[in-house]
Amino acid sequence: MIRPKTPKPSKADETDAYELATLRDNDTCQRCRRGCGPSNRDHRKNRSQGGHTIVSNLQILGGTGTTGCHGYITQHPAEGMAEGWTVPSFAIPAEWPARRWIRTEHGVLRLGWVLYDDAGGITEITEADRLVRMGLVQDMTEAAF
Ligand SMILES: [Zn+2]
Repeated sequence: MIRPKTPKPSKADETDAYELATLRDNDTCQRCRRGCGPSNRDHRKNRSQGGHTIVSNLQILGGTGTTGCHGYITQHPAEGMAEGWTVPSFAIPAEWPARRWIRTEHGVLRLGWVLYDDAGGITEITEADRLVRMGLVQDMTEAAF
């Protein structure tokens, strides 16, 4: 699918986006939440594939290009994509499901699927919505299992 290119954000907007994403993710690795390495403000869609420094395209992962969760995802791109840590080049980050730990009303952490917006917001989505958005099923009817 061909989509219009979005304008690149200014340096000041990028600084704000990094700060909002760091706050949203509590400066904690969203994959393991266990301090697997120094916080890395990861671009979900790589900059080399047109991913901008906007809040919806950022997530905190621990480690570097070769260590921690960030390193793992870099070295296992197919797994990173399937698990929701990476946005494919054709997709818009705000519309592509992200994996994330969510705290329930009982205070328990569980892994869920969300959409990120560019203001630092998080919207949880259903498994069916996730499958449709990722092109793994045709529509919600097929996803209603
Ligand atoms: Zn980690």
